[in-house]
Amino acid sequence: MPALDLGGTYAKGAVIDAGDGTALWETRWDVPRGLTADGLVEQVATWCEHLLGQAARRLGHPADCLGVAVPGIVDDATGTAGFSANLGWRNQPLRARLAERLDFPVTLCHDVTAAGVGEAAFGAGRAAHTVLTVVAGTGIGGVLTIGGQPYRGAHHGAVELGHLPVADLTGLCGCGGRGHLETVAAGPAIVRRYNAATPAAPAADVPEVLARAAAGDATAAAFWDEAVAAFGRAVAQAVILLDPEVVVLAGGLSRSGAALRAPVAASLASTLTFHEPPPVLTSLLGDRAGVIGTALTAVRERTHG
Ligand SMILES: [Zn+2]
Repeated sequence: MPALDLGGTYAKGAVIDAGDGTALWETRWDVPRGLTADGLVEQVATWCEHLLGQAARRLGHPADCLGVAVPGIVDDATGTAGFSANLGWRNQPLRARLAERLDFPVTLCHDVTAAGVGEAAFGAGRAAHTVLTVVAGTGIGGVLTIGGQPYRGAHHGAVELGHLPVADLTGLCGCGGRGHLETVAAGPAIVRRYNAATPAAPAADVPEVLARAAAGDATAAAFWDEAVAAFGRAVAQAVILLDPEVVVLAGGLSRSGAALRAPVAASLASTLTFHEPPPVLTSLLGDRAGVIGTALTAVRERTHG
């Protein structure tokens, strides 16, 4: 089934076999800079048209559903995309606008939730019943899936662990709060804090900060250690509240592999007393988790209404 996972800088499009999660076709489109909210909706619609065409070709018949995942606050019931700082829109009735423009039913998903659904169905969490997937990159979010179904909360804001107050209270979060996990452990925060301490030799991204830490740069190591310590505290708190069978680390930061996984596992081992520390696994689906979960969510919505 065709699915689109819209991010702040690029959109991933794919035609997914919902039976086994494999991609029959996939691509990546850059999100043009400077679009108005209406312009972005039109751009998404154009990508969706392309996806429906590719789906008919790859499946051998027209698709009967289409999933679109977006970041920020997503109201699944009304199909509304709420505020997204990266995309510059607020309260977009995106599902209705796309369905009208395409004359085709659209399922609107939350991107982190979709990634968790994907990992639970076909990725690192596929053998477990309750899976906590933590997606860490530009932002940090989480999703609990129970038997493959995401728990979204009363206001679609469950497991937003990027906004747990686990860091020094001086840091101002993008949400307006202070000391939230994202102020020290989101990718841009790690780079920004390191560069503020080493203005003469700024790093371009998190992999560069990590490479410098591995090469003996004590400042880089200190900021990375602080980030993963706060991250580990947040994951431990989530585990105490949710008691998942496994924890899956996904998103850009999870590509650092054991450099993130090992401190998180150590944090769980040292923090939990009577809770069983769940295994900490790295995403198997990588940046495909979102489109796979989005396609699956669209198929489920078509099947169950
Ligand atoms: Zn926050």
